[in-house]
Amino acid sequence: MNKIAQVFQSLDYGPAPEGPDQANAWLDSHGRKFGHFIDGTWTKPGKTFASDNPANGEKLADITEGTTEDVNTAVKAARAAFKPWSALSGYERGKYLYAIARAIQKHSRLFAVLETMDNGKPIRESRDVDIPLVARHFYHHAGWAQHLSREFPDAVPYGVCGQIIPWNFPLLMLAWKIAPALAAGNTVILKPAEFTSLTALLFAEICERAGLPKGVVNIVTGQGETGQAIVSHDGIDKIAFTGSTEVGKAIRAATAGTGKGLSLELGGKSPYIVFEDADIDSAIEGLVDAIWFNQGQVCCAGSRLLVQESIETRFIAKLKTRMASLRVGDPLDKSIDIGALVAPVQVERIRDLMKRGVAEGAVVYEADGPVPAKGCFLKPALVTNVSPANTLVAEEIFGPVLVAMSFRTPEEAVALANNTKYGLAATIWSENINLALDIAPKIKAGVVWINGTNNFDAAVGFGGYKESGFGREGGREGMSAYLKPAWEKELKAAPAAKPAPAKAENPLDSGHLDQTAKMYIGGKQSRPDSAYNRAVLDPKGQTIGEVGEGNRKDIRNAVEAARAALSWSTTAAHTRAQILYFLAENLDYRRDEFAARIKGQTGEDGTNEVALSVERLFAFAGWADKYDGAVHNPPLRAVAAAMVEPLGVMGIVAPPSRPLLGSIALIAPALAMGNTVVLVPSAQSPLSITDLYQVIETSDVPNGVINIVTGDSVTLAKTLAEHDGVDGLWFAGSAEASAMVEKASITNLKQTWTSRGLYYDLADRRFEGDYFLSKATQVKNVWIPYGA
Ligand code: NDP
Repeated sequence: MNKIAQVFQSLDYGPAPEGPDQANAWLDSHGRKFGHFIDGTWTKPGKTFASDNPANGEKLADITEGTTEDVNTAVKAARAAFKPWSALSGYERGKYLYAIARAIQKHSRLFAVLETMDNGKPIRESRDVDIPLVARHFYHHAGWAQHLSREFPDAVPYGVCGQIIPWNFPLLMLAWKIAPALAAGNTVILKPAEFTSLTALLFAEICERAGLPKGVVNIVTGQGETGQAIVSHDGIDKIAFTGSTEVGKAIRAATAGTGKGLSLELGGKSPYIVFEDADIDSAIEGLVDAIWFNQGQVCCAGSRLLVQESIETRFIAKLKTRMASLRVGDPLDKSIDIGALVAPVQVERIRDLMKRGVAEGAVVYEADGPVPAKGCFLKPALVTNVSPANTLVAEEIFGPVLVAMSFRTPEEAVALANNTKYGLAATIWSENINLALDIAPKIKAGVVWINGTNNFDAAVGFGGYKESGFGREGGREGMSAYLKPAWEKELKAAPAAKPAPAKAENPLDSGHLDQTAKMYIGGKQSRPDSAYNRAVLDPKGQTIGEVGEGNRKDIRNAVEAARAALSWSTTAAHTRAQILYFLAENLDYRRDEFAARIKGQTGEDGTNEVALSVERLFAFAGWADKYDGAVHNPPLRAVAAAMVEPLGVMGIVAPPSRPLLGSIALIAPALAMGNTVVLVPSAQSPLSITDLYQVIETSDVPNGVINIVTGDSVTLAKTLAEHDGVDGLWFAGSAEASAMVEKASITNLKQTWTSRGLYYDLADRRFEGDYFLSKATQVKNVWIPYGA
């Protein structure tokens, strides 16, 4: 029998290797030794480390370890380039992005092969997914550059951006960061991951050849210390990071109080939910893609299979059959499904985690089949017999390991799906579109794929909830992450607040008992847990009343009440608007009394402040049903619904000035968007807010939606910042306390806004719109395929 006939008999795969010659030739042209790319030129290589091919252990090149001086030089170059680059018209900048996109397409095979050699991912993936998406990103952002001034009229670029990326999608992560930054008019210093710097260096050469002005893109290679030098550099205006949650938290702490912009795209443990009415064969194929794409080294990998109990046995059996046909081997072979992991240390890390999981009772299944003896290869694994507490269920493995659990009801599926500190992505399989669209909003994740998985596009935002980070990449949200309001640079320091007395001089001679305002928690007035009160003084220093001295326990109770009231977020926007209008109406009804109270506390006529507060409530009532999402048309048969969702429970610490408006201007946008609130009013002049209880009660605000804790702003802000039940925190106060709030918020990576000691004139109409609305919300993109 001849060879062809034999192949027809067995239907075995033959080898289909992609040639490495051109990639090797490019490496040789650089002598396999690289310096940095700074100010449009290549620096002389310094102290180097080796970059190896993880599939065979062979050294590909020596890469320079970036020093603090290297980072300084790059920042200087990026700073010098910023002014002329940002002054170019959007059209001019767009043309450069377009030229880069074209060049990437032209050299796409070279990029794909080099990426596969450096990272170990199958050539099929780098060729068909990574590199086409890279080009798409530059094309898409060429358009944003041109339309920027029309679409973001009051925005300016940050300046110099420091960008730190991981090794799992080396060139794609570079594109996600560099394309929008450049479109917005920023200049960049990008540090690729130590294991995978080569395509970033090839990209630098593309920039050089495209004639990109010197210093606009700087690539500084190195390890964690180089990243640290970027993060802590005073000359950098914004940090964009993708990587582990642990390093993300360290970066949040390091940038606290610096005023640097920050976006974090961190880890995940994403659920892959299969309902009993799913198209099982499709769901199996989707699952292969969800967990074994890029050897599972994907932040949004569908690594937790949740399958409905009624189909569990059948589904797992089919999955095992499919696993047996996955081919592990040389990543440059075009018929390989699973390539090499990025480095030996990653293989060890995964093996250790699996040992721990097995010791805790997990059962691991791996199909028979060959695995290369040399190189960083692991077989795809399925883990069963686990509970949510098992290490393999709780920890991000970042490898080809799927954990499987079952559920009975949709409610149970949602509870299991959300039982994680992460919130990056989720997949839902069901032929019942009503069910799928009912579940999608209930899952706390930035991306939800229905009957599909791992769809990405430049027009659709990507990013996480909870400890998966904040900020989006792609789409309109991704663009706005590289822009800031033009007026921010004009902000002046806030005037010093009059010191608030901790307690009355003699606690016994403060006001009449009836004048002591209580806290407002869960719709009820409650006494402070501390059983202490604090005096409220008029401008002459006379005691005019007392409020409770709030403590940790009061905050805990208030957060609990706010969490219990979260059905507010799914109350119709129309209803939320009606309630805010009603609140405004009832406040207006008592305007004279509230104006007099302001005068009593501040000595100033409060008439205008009350009128502005009423108007602000009206403004955000008007926004409640208008500030919503979009439907994107990515280039595949799907739509992506960008849904605007509230953060959840928000802590709001009002500024000392403007006792009424200072609180109303902040809680109104939060409430309009469906957040519930724990409000700490002005410490000096809290009575305008404690007077509000009756207004709240007569305005149909559900219990627990607004909770009020009086006391020392900084102490209570710290407690709110450290509380894991708080999803977002706004703090108006000193620069020092703002830094404390940002640092303390790292426990659950809550989103923060702080005034950093600057004076935000909340009476200004610029605060009547999307400035606070965008900070009170996060966008979830739900991908919905179509076509019969
Ligand atoms: P890291 O978060 O450590 O690395 C990401 C990037 O940050 C790399 O460029 C790294 O440099 C750099 N870096 C490391 N430490 C610091 C620091 N202190 N300050 C600034 N930059 C720093 O991820 P790892 O590569 O170590 O991977 C560890 C785990 O993280 C993975 O197993 C996985 O669980 C998770 N991960 C998640 C990713 C995601 O997309 N969400 C991506 C990658 C990893 P260098 O590479 O030189 O150390």
